[in-house]
Formats: sequence, structure tokens, C-alpha cells
Amino acid sequence: MSNSYSVADHLLQPFSPPPRLLMGPGPITVDPRVLRAMSAQLVGQYDPTMTQCMNDTMALYRGVFQTQNEWTLLVDGTSRAGIEAVLVSLLEPGEKVLVPVFGRFGHLLCEIAERCGAEVHKIETAWGEVFSPEQIEQAIIKVKPKVLAIVQGDTSTTMLQPLEDLGEICQRHNVLMYSDATASIGGNPFKSDEWQLDAVSVGLQKCLCGPSGSAPITLSDRAVDTIRRRKHVEAGIRAQHHVDGAGQRIASNYFDLAMIMDYWGDERLNHHTEATTMLYGARECARILMQEGIDNAIARHQLHGDAMAQGIAGLNLKLFGDQTHKMTNVVGVYIPDAVQGESVRHSMLEDFGIEIGTSFGPLHGKIWRIGTMGYNARKDAVLQTLSALEAVLRQHGHHMTPNGGVDAAMIRYKNQPSSS
Ligand SMILES: *Cc1c(COP(=O)(O)O)cnc(C)c1O
Repeated sequence: MSNSYSVADHLLQPFSPPPRLLMGPGPITVDPRVLRAMSAQLVGQYDPTMTQCMNDTMALYRGVFQTQNEWTLLVDGTSRAGIEAVLVSLLEPGEKVLVPVFGRFGHLLCEIAERCGAEVHKIETAWGEVFSPEQIEQAIIKVKPKVLAIVQGDTSTTMLQPLEDLGEICQRHNVLMYSDATASIGGNPFKSDEWQLDAVSVGLQKCLCGPSGSAPITLSDRAVDTIRRRKHVEAGIRAQHHVDGAGQRIASNYFDLAMIMDYWGDERLNHHTEATTMLYGARECARILMQEGIDNAIARHQLHGDAMAQGIAGLNLKLFGDQTHKMTNVVGVYIPDAVQGESVRHSMLEDFGIEIGTSFGPLHGKIWRIGTMGYNARKDAVLQTLSALEAVLRQHGHHMTPNGGVDAAMIRYKNQPSSS
């Protein structure tokens, strides 16, 4: 006899996802190597093989971030877990943060910093543009923030904010510089040490070929000193030698980087239960990137991103935003006036199994976003997407030269046949 808490029969079937090519702004199709790494069995949290895996992962991510920072580790959670951990650990209530906003994720940094109780100062530019170093320095002089928080690549606008001059400006004005490089790292140049960044957080689901669920971060000595001043070890695990810092206790337990550092560091002080499966995945993502070589990975994203952009133009479509500051790995495409944008996306998915992205805020309904990142920064993925898009656009009454997209992309590939 069934009771009212029994579940429907179909719920007892396994979930088998249909084959999809994820060509949106992230997440992307995961590299099968990462899926394999994530199917490995667990080991105990303090098993020596586990702590070795954690140390190796730290070392691999120093390569990814291009840093010597000792404190390079994973925060368990999606990319915003990394953002939240950095901001809540650096900013005490009432302290000032400057956020230059050029898209959706700049607004997210503001929103998270507000929840930390910080005094948030934002400067804004139009979606599709980036800031000059002078604009940012002027705002720093005016606001005198403790922290500058800025996104590197904002997938909502496809723009890549140049960071190379900002670290030096921040050092000169005694400001801590934090960047969210989730969408850009691995596909666009990124140099933590050379650019003098104090804190960086990322995620796996863009150019790093993985699923979301782990947020690698790196912290400079200046950032670590700031965080350590706020150290308050949890009651149940506290020992005699633990001394509280002078600063205010970090408002979040889960995202308390002072405690998370003690867990990843020599003391191995218990904090959360490691998300071991994500650790395996994150380790494999870094291994894939370091094996390919960062410069090769960036060149690959440049090649396939260019081919996609040129192919899109070959379909008689217009590209969105300042192309000189575009990320390599995602392109914004104006939806033609006569075409139903959502109907095109629907047909791409239903008829061809290919996902492309919609957009947010002021761009909603105006552009699609098409990614060529991580595992999908590949010639076959680009050409399949362009040929499917041509077929779908024709059905929606849009005119173009037959095979215009694939032909234009092929010209880009012929100019650089080696790295397909
Ligand atoms: C995609 C993206 C994120 C994603 O955050 P999640 O918490 O993983 O959804 C964060 N920041 C930027 C700049 C992004 O492009």
C-alpha cells in the first residue's frame, strides 16, 4: 500500500542528460578528464594522501594564477563563494571599497560588499566599455578605499578590463586590490604577481574546463596580514596557543579565510568537511591548463574566439561592444530586429543540441552571448555552432550568404592551421 510520502515512479528513474554542446557564456561542456577525476573514491580528510593532494593543488594553482603566494587554495562553493570569502574576510563593517562596474558581475561585487557592511563606492561605465587606469586612480584618490574590487572579464558584456596598471596604482595609494577573474583566467592573460594583485578569486566553469562548485583563490602577504588581524578560532576546536586578532571577527564562519587558511596550512585545523570530489576536479582542471601551457591555452582561446566572431560576422550579424577590449572566449551578438531571439535559442537547443546564451540587464533581449571556452574552444565546436546557427537563422527569415559563417571562420583557421 502506498502512503502519501511515496514518490512517483518516474522519480526512481536515473537522470540521463541529453548530449549537449554548451556554447553559452558558461558553464561549458566539461572536459571528460575532469569527469573521470571526479569519479575517484574518497579518502579521509586528514589521510596523508588527501593532505598531499591539497598541497599539490595549491602548487598547481600557483601556476594558474602566476604567483608565488603561499596562500593559494580552494574555497568550496561556486565562484561567488570565492568572491564572498575574499570580501567578507578583507572588509570590516564601515570600511570603504571602490567597485568600478562595467557589467552584471561588478554589481554583484557591490551587492556582496554591501552585505559585508562595507561602505560601497561604485563608478560605472556603459555596458560594452571598460575603464582607463586614470579613471580608476581618480576615484581612488577621491574615495580613499581600503579595497579596490574589480572584475577582469565580465561575461555579461564580454568586456575584458585591463588590470596591468591597477596593481601599481593601488600599491601607491595603499589600497588592497582584489579581482574576480572567474570568466577570463585560462583564456586571457592573467598575472597575479606581475600585476601586483592582493586577492584573486575564480571558478572552474569558464576557461578552466570544469564544472562549477570550487572557487580557487590566491592572497598576497598584504591580504593575509589584513585577514590574520581578524582571526578568531572557533570555540570547539580552539587550543591554548590560539590568540585572537585585534580586528573584528569575520562575519561568516563558512567563508572565514583566517580559519580556512589554518585548515589548508600546516596546522590543518578542522573547519568544513572538504568537498573532496570538487578538489579532485579542481586539481585536474589546473593540471590540464599547466600541461597545455598557459600561453598555448590563451592562443587557443584567441584562435577559436576570433573564428567564432568572424563566422558570426559572416552570417550577416553584428558584434556587440568595444572589440578592442573583448574577452577572447565569449562574443556578444546583436539579435536582428526581425528575429525572435528566444525562438532561435530554443531551436538551437531542441533541434541541434547546442546551447547559446541570453543576456542580462540593459542587454536583455538585445544580444545573444556565444562562448568558445575551456573544452569547447575547439574547431569542430565552432564550426558546428556556426552551421547550426545559419540553418536556424534561415528558418527565422534572416538573410546571409550561403555558408557565410563557416567560410569566414575557415579563413581564420587557414591563417593559423596548426592549432585547431
Ligand atoms: C560566470 C561568472 C561568475 C560565476 O559565479 P558563480 O557563483 O559560479 O555562478 C562569477 N564572476 C564572473 C566575472 C563570471 O563571469
